[in-house]
Amino acid sequence: MPPFVDPVVCDEALPAESDVVVIGAGIMGIATAMFLAERGVSVTVVEKGRVAHEQSGRNWGWVREQLRSSAEQPLAMLSLRLWRQMSERIGRDAGFRKTGMMVVSKDDAEIARWQAWIDANAHLDLPGGILSAREVAALIPGSAETWKAAIHSPEDGWAEPRIAVPAMAAAAREKGAVIIENCAARGWETEAGRVSHVVTEKGSIRTGAVLLAGGAWSAMMLRHHGVRFLQSGVFGTAFRTQPGPNVFDGGVGSPLFSFRRRTDGGYVVGLRGRGRIELSPMGLRDTVPFASLFLLRRAQLNLRVGQSFFNGPFAWRSWALDSRSPFEAHHARVYDPSPDPRIVDGGLKAFTEAYPELKGLRVAESWGGVIDATPDMVPVIGTVPGTEGLYLSSGYSGHGFAFGPGAGWVMAQQIVGETPDVDLSPFRFSRFAEGKAHEAHHWV
Ligand SMILES: Cc1cc2nc3c(=O)[nH]c(=O)nc-3n(C[C@H](O)[C@H](O)[C@H](O)COP(=O)(O)OP(=O)(O)OC[C@H]3O[C@@H](n4cnc5c(N)ncnc54)[C@H](O)[C@@H]3O)c2cc1C
Repeated sequence: MPPFVDPVVCDEALPAESDVVVIGAGIMGIATAMFLAERGVSVTVVEKGRVAHEQSGRNWGWVREQLRSSAEQPLAMLSLRLWRQMSERIGRDAGFRKTGMMVVSKDDAEIARWQAWIDANAHLDLPGGILSAREVAALIPGSAETWKAAIHSPEDGWAEPRIAVPAMAAAAREKGAVIIENCAARGWETEAGRVSHVVTEKGSIRTGAVLLAGGAWSAMMLRHHGVRFLQSGVFGTAFRTQPGPNVFDGGVGSPLFSFRRRTDGGYVVGLRGRGRIELSPMGLRDTVPFASLFLLRRAQLNLRVGQSFFNGPFAWRSWALDSRSPFEAHHARVYDPSPDPRIVDGGLKAFTEAYPELKGLRVAESWGGVIDATPDMVPVIGTVPGTEGLYLSSGYSGHGFAFGPGAGWVMAQQIVGETPDVDLSPFRFSRFAEGKAHEAHHWV
């Protein structure tokens, strides 16, 4: 079962034309549509399933600007600023709470890496830093473990996925965006090398600009159009507990698990760095570009063959624009991989043992999700070479929920021809072909 996400009242009728068509109603599609609508641009979002029912409604909710790679740091900072203002901007609770977030450790090498990151980013004057063992113990007095240090950011926080994207979607509609659920895009047509129409299962829309924000399905759609987008996926598991005593308002990442408090007094817990890779045809095609990332994380990843080989986001599928596409298949409407019960049981055990006052806490809901990633763990945000009017915002590699508002903002700026507030060149599509990919530095 997908985790519960607030329903959104959506539109029924597909407009005949729209300045921009967005494919996918996750945080990237919705945030971009909202910022476009604010600028008076006519925008239509088509979603094969329901708003925020894939990654954007299944994530842990961590929103951090700390410990980001240098390529992503400006985007992380812009996003945090926008998260802070989001409830005011949209006139309703966007689910963001500034609580402070931290990662704890006993490992000197890890602590040294934090210090190196702090030194490299000293010019940014970011709040927070490394806490001593005594300071950590004062912040999480209920912890049964004694930590050597923590990297802490008082400005970071979390946002509730159940609330956030649906609230932005409702605001986007108020600002004029059209959002249509159960409406898979099958692809686009071009005239003289420029996007002219998006073809959906409910008909065709005339447009001059398409944003593909299809999460884990973006590579499949691009392959249909002859474009190779290097994208892979890791199957993750998370769960939430029933409400319990407050051990920390924010989030804590420890070597084994991460947790954060929820608005209802429960916790969202996930095992850090643990996931499942399912062999897929596109994965086999892209073995070489992803090899170093996989080798870096192989101890935490479980490799197997599953049904997704034939029908998952990285399957090898072909279709015509006038016939049913793989996005319309029942299992693909809202892709709902099962959670791994061993991760749920192990996570709850580790969490309640680490915080003894939580003894007896029960799991309220668990779910699976596919985390889409690029080989360098940095998304693509920008134009797709070869087709005028085609934009891509995908490959967020486990940190797209935090980046959603900033990525939506700069994407909207680029589409309307403004100079984006953040330099988008580190996110360009062509970096892989140029041999200028970034060095991957983290993984959920
Ligand atoms: C378990 C888990 C934990 C995570 N934890 C965090 C975290 O703590 N912090 C963080 O920042 N990030 C986290 N992430 C990552 C984050 O959730 C994603 O990076 C982010 O949500 C990606 O947003 P998106 O809009 O690109 O994709 P999605 O939210 O997946 O949205 C894409 C949408 O496109 C739709 N779509 C696809 N193809 C079509 C089509 N042809 N036609 C119409 N619609 C289509 C899909 O149905 C989907 O709704 C986590 C992810 C998971 C799974």
